[in-house]
Amino acid sequence: MADRYLSFTGTAPGRFLTRRLGLPRPAPLRRWSPERPDLDGGLLHLTAGKSGLDLAPVLARTGPAPDDATGRPAAVVLDASGIRDVEGLAEVHAALHPVVRSVAASGRIVVLGAPLDPADHHQAAAQQALEGFTRSLGKETGRGITVNLVRLTDAPAAESTLRFLLSPKSAYVSGQVIGVGAHETAAPYDADRPLSDRTALVTGAARGIGEAVAETLARDGAKVVVLDVPGAEADARRVAERLGGTALPLDITAADAGARIAEALPDGLDVLVHNAGVTRDRRLVNMPAERWSPVLEVNLASVLRTTDALLAAGTLRRGGRIVATASIAGIAGNAGQTNYGASKAGVTGLVRALAPHALDGHGVTVNAVAPGFIETKMTAAVPLFIREAGRRMNSLAQGGLPIDVAETTAWLAHPASGAVNGQVVRVCGQSLLGA
Ligand code: NAD
Repeated sequence: MADRYLSFTGTAPGRFLTRRLGLPRPAPLRRWSPERPDLDGGLLHLTAGKSGLDLAPVLARTGPAPDDATGRPAAVVLDASGIRDVEGLAEVHAALHPVVRSVAASGRIVVLGAPLDPADHHQAAAQQALEGFTRSLGKETGRGITVNLVRLTDAPAAESTLRFLLSPKSAYVSGQVIGVGAHETAAPYDADRPLSDRTALVTGAARGIGEAVAETLARDGAKVVVLDVPGAEADARRVAERLGGTALPLDITAADAGARIAEALPDGLDVLVHNAGVTRDRRLVNMPAERWSPVLEVNLASVLRTTDALLAAGTLRRGGRIVATASIAGIAGNAGQTNYGASKAGVTGLVRALAPHALDGHGVTVNAVAPGFIETKMTAAVPLFIREAGRRMNSLAQGGLPIDVAETTAWLAHPASGAVNGQVVRVCGQSLLGA
């Protein structure tokens, strides 16, 4: 379903009317394309406090060239990881206050922070303050500019994350706090096709977000397996054929789904994307068990069952990646979606609990993407008024596209993202719903 309001505000009468009436003015977002892979402008590297990070070599490899200080930076990285007290926060203000206005449209502001030190409540207060700062700034910048916070302990471990956040691929990711652990050595990979020689399975990939995820992982070199219900087999085959992959018609709720996937992948699997999902909305008072159960079954129980089965069978190879699909409805709650909200919150619980064990035992990372309002058949079915509210109620004043979730998934699936584990990353344009 096209966002006609966004198109209208790009016209001269649209600009005139929205200005006069004080209506939201969404900026068209610059997304990645092979022709224009980088942001339109340079990188400005600022520091607040005394940082122990060796960032310069990492930033030099992330994409944007250093800003010549005369133009409009497209990317600003503020290293605030060394701030240990409230006085230090004045340096955050001093560093960004003069430059925020000059950041180019669809630009990026990334604040770097340190993990909170439980033994030092002054450091913890100052570092936690960076979250409120980042999320507030994200609500102020406009013009398609995103603002995110990355907590890290060593710079090389965060390279893939910074490359993503400082590129057009993260157009709809804003107001997020992403924790990056210690450096994990990545197996060698081709920079242009980082997933070549890897196999990725995407559930629910016959259409919508799953189709975009399969397409993006294939772009990055993966051999994709397009799993969807037998009723969607023709679409799954069409997608698989286009991407040079294979289709796997299978209802993910089948008791033997894990075993059937393992059987279909005798050589193993590197990337497992749990994307299949359904809604059966109704307020709890009107919700019979028949509307409750399928949602919990598809969105949560089958995710747990297939993950367990594929880890136990050894199908998921060392260095593997699991990306599960949560939702902002699971974080903030949504009237009419007690079943869906419960299932999606369950996904985040699974991710946070399994992440440390999966990495220890199998070198596997487990993360979740939590989409906000994404333009798909699922959201096209939402009544007009609620749909329009969902689209506008975020810092970017528009819905995201399936590609935005797909690019986030591709970053988490990247061989160099081994230090990103147990994270729930919202792809929601900083929706007003939830934190
Ligand atoms: P969609 O309805 O367009 O696609 C979902 C796909 O999953 C379909 O192809 C469907 O056939 C498949 N599927 C459903 N049940 C299945 C089963 N039992 N076994 C195998 N496949 C099954 O949905 P979408 O909008 O592309 O959403 C994809 C994921 O993103 C879902 O998990 C959804 O909950 C989540 N999500 C979407 C949005 C949004 O705004 N669209 C927001 C938050 C979360």
